[in-house]
Amino acid sequence: PQTPGETFLRSLNAAQLQAVLHDPASPLQILAGPGSGKTKVLTSRVAYLILHHLLPPSSICAVTFTNKAATEMRERLSKLIGKQRMAEVRMGTFHALCALYLRKFSRVVGIEPNFTVCDAEESKKIISGFLKHHKDFLSSKDINLKDGAVLSYISRAKAKGLSAKDFIAEHKATKDHRSSDFDPQDDIQHVVGNVYQQYEKALRQSSSLDFDDLLLFGVKLFTEHPPATSWCRHVLVDEFQDTNVTQYELLRAIAAPTKGCVTIVGDPDQSIYGWRSAEVGNLAKMRKDFVGTTQIFLEENYRSTGSILKARDSDLVSEDKSRIPKTLLTSHPSGTTPVLRSFSSEQAEANFIAVEIKRLVAFMGGVLRWGDFAILLRFSALSRAIESALQKEAIPSAVLGGHKFFERQEIKDILAYLQLIDNPSFMPALTRAINVPSRGIGEKSLEALISRAAKTKISPLEAIERIHDAVQPDIKPAVKHKVGSFVRTVRALRTLATEGASPPDLIQRLLQLIEYENHLKRTQPEWESRWENVQELITFASDVEHDVNLSNPDAADASSSDTPLRLFLQASMLSSEGDNQSEEDSKEKVTITTCHAAKGLEWPVVIIPAVEQGTFPFYRTDDVQEERRLLYVACTRAQSLLYLSHVSKRQVGGETKPKDISEFISAATKEHSVGFFRALHSSSSLINIFTARTSQFSTPERAVISRVLGRVDASEVEVARRVAELYVA
Ligand code: ATP
Ligand code: MG
Repeated sequence: PQTPGETFLRSLNAAQLQAVLHDPASPLQILAGPGSGKTKVLTSRVAYLILHHLLPPSSICAVTFTNKAATEMRERLSKLIGKQRMAEVRMGTFHALCALYLRKFSRVVGIEPNFTVCDAEESKKIISGFLKHHKDFLSSKDINLKDGAVLSYISRAKAKGLSAKDFIAEHKATKDHRSSDFDPQDDIQHVVGNVYQQYEKALRQSSSLDFDDLLLFGVKLFTEHPPATSWCRHVLVDEFQDTNVTQYELLRAIAAPTKGCVTIVGDPDQSIYGWRSAEVGNLAKMRKDFVGTTQIFLEENYRSTGSILKARDSDLVSEDKSRIPKTLLTSHPSGTTPVLRSFSSEQAEANFIAVEIKRLVAFMGGVLRWGDFAILLRFSALSRAIESALQKEAIPSAVLGGHKFFERQEIKDILAYLQLIDNPSFMPALTRAINVPSRGIGEKSLEALISRAAKTKISPLEAIERIHDAVQPDIKPAVKHKVGSFVRTVRALRTLATEGASPPDLIQRLLQLIEYENHLKRTQPEWESRWENVQELITFASDVEHDVNLSNPDAADASSSDTPLRLFLQASMLSSEGDNQSEEDSKEKVTITTCHAAKGLEWPVVIIPAVEQGTFPFYRTDDVQEERRLLYVACTRAQSLLYLSHVSKRQVGGETKPKDISEFISAATKEHSVGFFRALHSSSSLINIFTARTSQFSTPERAVISRVLGRVDASEVEVARRVAELYVA
C-alpha cells in the first residue's frame, strides 16, 4: 500500500521498484549499466526509507562521488521529500562527511578543531621545499623526480592506509627481497619515504590535513569513537565501483551501527579511477563483509538511443575480457548512429564542432539549447582550440572542473588571509598572504622568521606580530616597517571575526584594507575578470551562510566548534576538490569538461574530440582497459546524438605530430565495416528530443519551432514535417 507521498514509486520499472522496496535491514548491491536509473533508484530508496519506514532523515547517510553529483541528488530528493527534510539527510562526498565529523570530534583523533584543509597546490609547495634537499642525490643518480610525482606516490600510499612510517617499512621489506641492487625505483622510494615523513610532520605542525588525510583521520575517528557514528541507521553509496581501500573502510566504519543496512550502486564497466587507487574488488569484498548481500541488476537504459548503446556496448567494453557480462536494453528508438569524423588538424576539428553545434541549435531552435551540448575531453589541455573556436562563433561555453575556481590566484589570495585568521599555524596561508600586496619580504627573511618561531614554540604569525610590536629588539626598522601593514590587517580582521562578522563582511573589509582592486589593476592585465571572481567569492560566501542556516542539524549542539568563518573555509576547500559550476552557470552554455568529470551526468548531444592513439588511450596509462571504460563512460553520457572525431595531425607541446585513430574505434569499425559510423543526415534522435520536450512548450512556441524546422534543407524538412504532424497538431 502506498501513501500519497509515495507516488514516485510509479515512475520505476519492476527491477527498480524491487530495489527500492528491498528490505532495508539487508545489505543490497544494485549493479547496472549507464543510464539505467541507478542514481534514481538510490534517491528513491532514500525517500522510501524516510516516507515509508519512517527513518529520521538525519539518520541516513548518502555518499556521492563528486560535489556536482551531491547537488544533483539534493535536487532530485527535494522533489520527493521536500527541501526541509532533504537538508537533514547527511549527504555529500566521503571527504565532506569526514570533514564535517572531524571538525566536531577533532580532539579525539589528536588534531585541532581549527585544522585547515590543504589543497594539492599547497601540498606540492610544501613537498618541493623538502625535495630540494635531495636534489644532489637525485641528479647523481640521473633521476628526475617532480613534486607532483612525489605527491601522487604519497597519495597512493595514503589510499592504501599507509602512514610515512608504514611506507618506509614496506619499502624496506620489499628491498630485502629484491635480488638486484641497482633499481632506480629503490632510490625513488627512498626519497619519497623521506619526503613523506617530513611532509607529514609539516602538515601536523601547521595544523592541517590534505584531502587524503581527511579520509584517513575519518576512518580513525569513525572506527574508534562510537558517538561519531551513533546517529547512522542506513548508508547508501553511489558510484561504488570507484571507491578505494580507504573509502571502503570508511563505509564499513560509518555503517557499523546500522548492522548491515547498506545500499550501494555501481557499474564495474564504468570504473575509471584505478589511477587513484580505486578497487573494483570492493564489490566482492562487500559481499564477504556484509553477509547476505543481495544483488539486483537493472537492464533498461533510459538515457541513450539504441545505437549509442550498441556501439559502446558491443565494441568498447566487450573487448575487455575481464568484464562481468551485462546487457542493456533501451526503450528509445534506435536513433542516429554515432557520427565519426576525421580532420586534418585540430583547428579544423574545433571549427567543425563549433559550426555543427550552431547548425543543430538553428535547426532545432527552441528545442536544442546551448546547454544541451557537452564536449568531453580526455584531458583538459585539449580545450584550448575548441574554446577559441566556440568563442569565434559566439557560442557561450563553460569549462566544468577545468580551471578550478578555488585554485585561481585571486581567490587563493583572499582565502589565505581568512585561513590565517582561523588557523595561525597554517604556513601555506602565511607565506602567501604576507606578500599580498607585495611587501618585499623575501623567502630568506621569511624562513628565518619561521625557524625563530619554531625555537620559541610560537606560531610564525605570532613571531611576525612580535616583530611589529618590537618585543624583539634585534630586528631592523626596515623589516618592522615592511610587516606593519600586514600585522594591522590581520589584527583588524581577527577582531571583526571574534565579534562575529559574517564571511562576506570579512572579505569586503579585507578588500578595503589591502586595496585589493588596486593591487589587481597594478599587477594583472586581465584584472577585471579577476575582480569578477572575487565578487563571485563573496556570493559563494553568502550562499554558504544561507545553506548552513537552512540545514544546520546540530545548531543546538554546544560542543560544535564551527564558526561561520570555519564553515565557509571548509565549504570552499571541499568544493575545490572536484568540480564547481553553479547550475545557473551551465544551463545556457555548452559544457566543456573532461571524461572523468562527466561521470554520472547526461546531455542530449555529446561530442568527443581527439579519439586518437596516444590521447585515447592516453600514452602514459598503465591500464588500457581503464581507458576503454573511460571512453565508454564518455559515450554513454549522450542521450540522443554522439559525435566522435579525430585528426591526422595534432600539435603537442609546440610540435606537430602525426596521429592515428584510436585502437578502440578501429576495433569498432572493423566489425561494422559498411559505414557503421555514418554522417548525420535527418535525425530521428532529434525527434526523440523533441518528443521529450514538446509538452513543455506552449502552442505559440510550437508554432515558432515548426517554422524554424521549415527553414532547413530538404532531408531535414522531411523530419520537420513528421515532427510537426506528430506534435504540433
Ligand atoms: P550513470 O551510470 O551514468 O550514473 P544511472 O544509472 O545513475 O547512470 P540515472 O542518472 O539515474 O542513471 O538515470 C538516467 C536517466 O534515465 C535520468 O534522466 C533518469 O531520470 C531516467 N530514468 C531512469 N529510470 C527511469 C524510469 N523508470 N522511467 C523514466 N526515466 C527513467
Ligand atoms: Mg548515476
